[in-house]
Amino acid sequence: MLFTTNWLSERFTDFQGDAKNLIQIDAVNTDSRVQIKKSLFVPIVGDNFDGHHYVKQAINNGAVAVLWEKGRSLPTLIPTDFPVFFVEDTTTGLQQLATNYLDDVNPIVIGITGSNGKTTTKDLVAAMMKSTYITHYTNGNFNNHIGLPLTILSMKKNTEVLVLEMGMSGFGEIDLLSKIAKPDYAIITNIGESHIEFLGSREGIAKAKLEIINGLKEKALLIIDGDEPLLNQLNTYSNTVSCGFNNDNDVIISNVNLSLQATSFKLSDETNYVVPLLGKHHAKNATYAIILGERLGINLSTRKSALLSLEQTSMRFELMEGRGGASIINDAYNASPTSMKAAIEVVKQMKGFKSKVLVLGDVLELGEHSEQLHRSIAEVIDSSINAVFTYGDHSEVISNAVMEKGGEIRCKHFTEKASLLKALEPYLEKESIVLFKASRGLHFETLIKEILN
Ligand code: ATP
Ligand code: MG
Repeated sequence: MLFTTNWLSERFTDFQGDAKNLIQIDAVNTDSRVQIKKSLFVPIVGDNFDGHHYVKQAINNGAVAVLWEKGRSLPTLIPTDFPVFFVEDTTTGLQQLATNYLDDVNPIVIGITGSNGKTTTKDLVAAMMKSTYITHYTNGNFNNHIGLPLTILSMKKNTEVLVLEMGMSGFGEIDLLSKIAKPDYAIITNIGESHIEFLGSREGIAKAKLEIINGLKEKALLIIDGDEPLLNQLNTYSNTVSCGFNNDNDVIISNVNLSLQATSFKLSDETNYVVPLLGKHHAKNATYAIILGERLGINLSTRKSALLSLEQTSMRFELMEGRGGASIINDAYNASPTSMKAAIEVVKQMKGFKSKVLVLGDVLELGEHSEQLHRSIAEVIDSSINAVFTYGDHSEVISNAVMEKGGEIRCKHFTEKASLLKALEPYLEKESIVLFKASRGLHFETLIKEILN
């Protein structure tokens, strides 16, 4: 049970029906189509839909109480004794409810934002915390002004640590999420170029992420990517730990080594770790989790095994076997210029392959910066790569820019997936590695499906 209608009536005082009757609420639901018994239905009003229209369906599917926008008439089918709580705005009401419930449960809260690596870091931190604490964490990408409150409202009463991913596409969003969650610990994983369209510049992006400071509890700790000059420059929060590969960080990561399945590294206190993910950047994501583990009293051997217990979310740098025994890296879940460069760096760092092929698609939502940012991806491609195949409407500049650099790399742009697959054929053999990376909208999973063993 989350709470009772009586608990709600003490917080949302404008109500009708049998609210005082201690009716038990087990879940909060915004989707009337899902069957959830003993739920509170919160009708969200969006640009293209209005949850208020579906209240009957919600009740049929198990809702025992609803939040309702003040001033709207209630459908006559709702019985007079049915508990209805009136609020100015249902989305704000949902957020207020989350705040109230969070105050009641009072777990240690960890908030995670950044341009890239939020979900991975969230999964790593959750794996770390689960080793020792009753932990609740963001499911999938439920990281916005609705997903985050719903995450809070799905934690059990006995939760000790709550790990929250905080996403955004514009100013003010992290401010809101942080004020709802009031983190004891916060992480800014990195600053990239995602959503530059709405934020103007990388500096704008850094400022938007730093809004996480606005909601921190007193004496909270902020952990930042200390290799990012903008974060160092713009961060005014005193209780900060910087972390990264540069020597001026508080926690320095060194000796990074990649195998086919894992990345190993060493921290400045001479401890060594292995994380079952590929890429230098994951050493950093893991370090965020290690720092939190230390602060929360988790010992070294438990910290090490907790990282190894990580369960991977699919399509995030997932290694698969392709036809002919080729190694396929599926990183097609999403892409930003930073994450695409990071993925290419990983392929460059991998040893023991005769040929390395990059299949790169468009990075979407880059606005007027699109061409320049796509072009910048070519800068990290060097002669350790054998072929670069691009696909889509924006990515041709990558293969063109690599070609302009000269050298031996085979570059070609495609507008049809079938011809791209044909060009890949000669590379589908043992000792070949093929990276697939693009924005979600390019649907590279359809390409990958065709060449799996
Ligand atoms: P989204 O905005 O889609 O929720 P996210 O911030 O949750 O993204 P992840 O899903 O963890 O990020 O990772 C997305 C991509 O970012 C991956 O492809 C990965 O290669 C890359 N990445 C992960 N961590 C970092 C990092 N610390 N620095 C740069 N790139 C990273
Ligand atoms: Mg994410």
